Amino acid sequence: MEHNMAELRASYPEMIFIAFPGDEKSTGGCLAAGRGFFHINSHGGAEPCPFSPYSDINVRKTSLREALKSELFRALQSESILTGEHIGGCVLFEQKDKVEAIIERNKHNG
Ligand code: SF4
Repeated sequence: MEHNMAELRASYPEMIFIAFPGDEKSTGGCLAAGRGFFHINSHGGAEPCPFSPYSDINVRKTSLREALKSELFRALQSESILTGEHIGGCVLFEQKDKVEAIIERNKHNG
């Protein structure tokens, strides 16, 4: 995919190509959890990304600004999970156990 994306970008410089998961290298790592964007599910849950459906805060009860500072998002950013080395694909899916452990830890702390 990396090769195809490079070819497309070279062939159509006037266009912007975005592909994820898989192309996070070109954006300096995973941009989920408020590093670049986040996702709000149909129930209002603020999730790191549509591909990482975990949430510990709901925008029906809080502001977007507060949602961006959720325990989950802060932990994902501070524990370098988003920018760590990985083997391709989705970094948060690959480290699903760590993400679930953060959710569990926060349940017991809060
Ligand atoms: S959570 Fe996965 S799919 Fe979403 S931006 Fe990060 S690496 Fe890509």
